[in-house]
Amino acid sequence: MGVLGGGQLGRMMIQEALNWDVRVEVMDPSEEASCRHLTARFVQGDLQDADAVVDFGLGLDVITVEIEHVSVEGLQSLANHGVEVVPRPAHLALIQDKGRQKQAFETWGIPSAPFVLVDGANEVASMGYPIVQKLRTGGYDGKGVQILHNSQDAAQRAFDAPSVLEQRVDIHKELSVIVARNASGDTAVYPVVEAVFNPEINLVDHLMAPAAISQTLEREARELALRVVQAMDFVGLLAVEMFLDHHGKLWVNELAPRTHNSGHHTIEGNVCSQFEQHLRAVLNLPLGDTQPLHPASAMLNLIGAPDAHGTPLYEGMEEALAMPNVHVHLYGKSTVKPHRKMGHVTVTGPDIDSVQRDVLKLRQSMRVTGTIRG
Ligand code: ADP
Repeated sequence: MGVLGGGQLGRMMIQEALNWDVRVEVMDPSEEASCRHLTARFVQGDLQDADAVVDFGLGLDVITVEIEHVSVEGLQSLANHGVEVVPRPAHLALIQDKGRQKQAFETWGIPSAPFVLVDGANEVASMGYPIVQKLRTGGYDGKGVQILHNSQDAAQRAFDAPSVLEQRVDIHKELSVIVARNASGDTAVYPVVEAVFNPEINLVDHLMAPAAISQTLEREARELALRVVQAMDFVGLLAVEMFLDHHGKLWVNELAPRTHNSGHHTIEGNVCSQFEQHLRAVLNLPLGDTQPLHPASAMLNLIGAPDAHGTPLYEGMEEALAMPNVHVHLYGKSTVKPHRKMGHVTVTGPDIDSVQRDVLKLRQSMRVTGTIRG
């Protein structure tokens, strides 16, 4: 099996692949990729370069991705040569373009914020203000997304590139549902996960499963995610990111065709982890059980401190490891940078409150700094 992308998602997938003697080969642009020393064959190469992708993939049985920004042309060519490509190149092409995603939601009757597509900054006033502007291609982790509050704001900051303008949703909660579907058409849906915000820093603090929502909403969110997968005829693992607004309505925000940050807790929290599930979906095997093993689980990203550079130093490891319900995952990155994802911690427990108390404790004791500060 080949994997395009050799970061932490590929790394955690390799951990599962080892159990089944699946030989995994990896391509990544960085010579220091997390998977560099864990794979049967590592190729350093540009994931957007069609020829590089073809060279890497020819001769493999199956190829998958841990990142969506890869050459669709290269993958299509591999598919034409008989390599099994999961997810399908056409689905990657759709997801790479936020504009096409929004159009597809409209076609499929999937609720998503009203939008218009524009070519550049001179058209950003077309929906009034405030407006969410998203670059159609190339954005990730919130980069390439901004809220424009008024015309002065737009004059100063609007992206001058093909964009989606989206009505701003009055967000109550950000939710995510991971769905797997294999080539035989079997599906498996994970419980809804909630991104819990820290209002002080206005950033996601941790992810909590189950989401603190009613059973009706839990069911609606799972059904909505399943509808997306079925409307797309998707094969692989799909993370469906949603908003719940203050009126109790769900809106699909966007899709990720791969394992997702909001599924890391499934390693310890659920019968079958998202990484094992991804392998099952890609290899067209029976899908695993998505049931939770604990009443509540949380996942806390370990990110580089704002002044951290050089070799990473993980503070608070001993306190964390002394807690019986805590599991630490480090991603093997040789250098730390401010806000870089360096690892994560999973907390399981008997209820949401006790898990949240432990998350708070870990938040105070764990820090990723570096040998160089400033
Ligand atoms: P990325 O792909 O970079 O993660 P997203 O589309 O998920 O970008 O947007 C990043 C964040 O911006 C979301 O998590 C949400 O907090 C906010 N956001 C995006 N779209 C809207 C919207 N229509 N209304 C309000 N907030 C939004």
